[in-house]
Amino acid sequence: MLITHATLATLGSAPRLIEDGALLMEGGRIKELGKTAELEERFPGVEPWDAGGQLVLPGSICGHTHFYGAFSRGMAIPGAPPEDFPQILQQLWWRLDKALTPEDVRYSALVCLVDAVRHGTTTLIDHHASPNAIDGSLDVIAEAVQDAGLRASLCYEVTDRDGPERARKGIEENVRFAEKAEESDRLAASFGLHASLTLSEETLAECVKAARAAGLGFHVHVAEGASDQEDSLEKSGKRVVHRFYDAGVLGPRTIAVHCVHVDDSEIERLAETGTWVTHQPRSNMNNAVGVAPVERMMDAGVKMGLGNDGFSNQMFAEMKTAYFLHKLHQRNPQALQGGRVMELAYANNSELTKVFWPDQQLGELTEGAMADLVFVDYHPTTPLSTDNLPWHLLFGFEASMITSTVCAGRVLMRDRELLTLDEEAITARSRELAAEAWERL
Ligand SMILES: [Zn+2]
Repeated sequence: MLITHATLATLGSAPRLIEDGALLMEGGRIKELGKTAELEERFPGVEPWDAGGQLVLPGSICGHTHFYGAFSRGMAIPGAPPEDFPQILQQLWWRLDKALTPEDVRYSALVCLVDAVRHGTTTLIDHHASPNAIDGSLDVIAEAVQDAGLRASLCYEVTDRDGPERARKGIEENVRFAEKAEESDRLAASFGLHASLTLSEETLAECVKAARAAGLGFHVHVAEGASDQEDSLEKSGKRVVHRFYDAGVLGPRTIAVHCVHVDDSEIERLAETGTWVTHQPRSNMNNAVGVAPVERMMDAGVKMGLGNDGFSNQMFAEMKTAYFLHKLHQRNPQALQGGRVMELAYANNSELTKVFWPDQQLGELTEGAMADLVFVDYHPTTPLSTDNLPWHLLFGFEASMITSTVCAGRVLMRDRELLTLDEEAITARSRELAAEAWERL
């Protein structure tokens, strides 16, 4: 297929803005990029798709999410409202995840995948929990991802909070799925751990042993709330990052999610081990846990990406939040500039995906890269260039402008019509299942 008459924003290491651009897709990848007139002449027999002057960017990448949380929307939490982050975990998340059946897991994922296709997010790194439906849960999610036509890395959050039997099952699910994920080039695996505060030394050691044998890195919440540090100091005499370093969890294939409460010595450790850190500002604001020292970490050489922690799969919204939050928090209009937000969401998230798909170039429109695209019906009212693109995106883009999504050359949404998922049926069944899950809380 030949996409024509698009404004192509290539991003990547040599960003270009190609006006009246064309993009040829072949075998799931980008074969050629150029001007419409030139490519139309060279490829006369190829089926054209006229973008009508829309802006076309690489599909968005989400560095950390939780499909399982979809049924929490509008859910009443029984009892007094939570007063802090540990209470939010206990009263909301650890009640919801226990209520999930395999069908709930499937529909929670489908709801999030519809949202991802609608908002042009083509690659997602998920962190799953369903303590009463552990075995095979990652297969259920993988099937939904395959049906949607998206790309995802999956893992199961191992924890001691539900007893040793379920901790063991969680380990087994990670190991089992890692082999299965190799069957598809749109799936990948990591080894999930919930967080330091719900892991004993023994379970942690078991996980490290199993992950090493399976050749997996970890995906784990790190110092999200101050309570994670207090617990770790009490349990091990070490701060969370140092506890994980000593246990063998850190390294270039591991994602340390959040890192809100890390000190300089921990930041140094994260940098020297090449551990990935992802930032999720909407979640941090909602849980009132604090603001991650994103710029300090980036300046110290920590590899940082952007996730959404289960918030909408509209990564432009996460980018906007990051942009505003750090300015307000530091009372400094120069904090976390637009270029750095773009770095997190594109260059860095693209690099992060190499952990899982080393042979696939993502997050960039270039010859040979995967044909992952989002069409934005955005017609700038002021001059647009590669240099000022971040500010057009941060101040001009709205979710309603996203019209089409392509993943690995397959069109998943065209002119706002979903082509792989039945949104109406998924929505209706999700609403029924969520009502039943809420009854079981
Ligand atoms: Zn999370």
